[in-house]
Amino acid sequence: VRIKADIVVLATGMLTNMIPEDYEVNNLTTEYIGTITKKETTDGVTEELVPVPISLNLSYRQGPEMPHLKYGFPDSHFICFPYETRRTGIYAAGAVRHPMDALQASSDAAGAALKAIQCLELTSQGKAVHPRAGDQTLPEFRLESCTQCRRCTVECPFGVLDEDEKGTPQEHPYRCRRCGTCMGACPQRIINFKNYSIDMISSMIRSVDVPDESEEPFILGLICENDAYPALDLAGQNRVQYNPNFRFISLRCLGGTNLVWIADALSKGIDGIMLIGCKFGDDYQCHFIKGSQVANERLGKVQETLDRLMLEAERVQQVQLAINEWDNLPKILDDFSERLKELGPNPYKGF
Ligand code: SF4
Ligand code: SF4
Repeated sequence: VRIKADIVVLATGMLTNMIPEDYEVNNLTTEYIGTITKKETTDGVTEELVPVPISLNLSYRQGPEMPHLKYGFPDSHFICFPYETRRTGIYAAGAVRHPMDALQASSDAAGAALKAIQCLELTSQGKAVHPRAGDQTLPEFRLESCTQCRRCTVECPFGVLDEDEKGTPQEHPYRCRRCGTCMGACPQRIINFKNYSIDMISSMIRSVDVPDESEEPFILGLICENDAYPALDLAGQNRVQYNPNFRFISLRCLGGTNLVWIADALSKGIDGIMLIGCKFGDDYQCHFIKGSQVANERLGKVQETLDRLMLEAERVQQVQLAINEWDNLPKILDDFSERLKELGPNPYKGF
């Protein structure tokens, strides 16, 4: 674009200062800043991201800077929590958050400061900040059974967990948002909350009354409490009728889904399981940033469980739903039910 002008004034702060030019966003992991090194391993040459300290120099196992988005703006659920970053207690304001002028930046800074004060108040009382503001329970780790697989430390969306030299998770409770993603990640099932645990959800699944003989598939819905469950609620408030053969259990986030629940439900004779949660990907809406995406990746591994049970992978499906899409729910539920009808009843029914 060519403009004939005597003077051009550009607003200050149009670019974030999070990524200097030498550290372009990379393909290996777009979330973290660092350099990629190649390493010889028994599986051949692998690439590894070595995070580098640039401005914050945090001591987090996940790296010294905040996870970021395209152009280096800090990653966050900005729809609901405008100043939040993925490092609890650090709030972004001004042109670090997105391009803005000085006046906007000044009011932005006031908003971020108020959020920081709220965070200080709540964490000093042992309570969570957004989105489960006021929650006083924390994940508890039965570390004597830990195999140091590192899944919890890698998958925690907020970098709460560091590791000791052996790879055993070390918790920093004041960073925790209580999403339960670590609980879902742990193959040993040794991470639980006092009021939210693997056994608790398993017991709910086991207590569902599954009809022995029915023409219609009987389905379990694991549904996120943040957007999907309110969408179901909205469907009810609007008198929308939906398939009565679903039983719903609400989760803090789909990221907390432990694969043992899938095995529990299918071995009980439930015909199919639908996970309903927030949208993931570039325009994600997950209140815990990564939860629904992590659940989707975990579901990729569900095939192993289903193979063991000699069942079809299509019996488990994840659906992304925004809160304003509540009127789509009846069709989504019916389509899944129809698909299960084609597969036939779960052979474990009645045992
Ligand atoms: S509950 Fe969520 S935020 Fe807390 S440690 Fe587990 S994964 Fe991290
Ligand atoms: S996921 Fe479970 S077994 Fe693996 S490191 Fe964490 S606590 Fe240990």
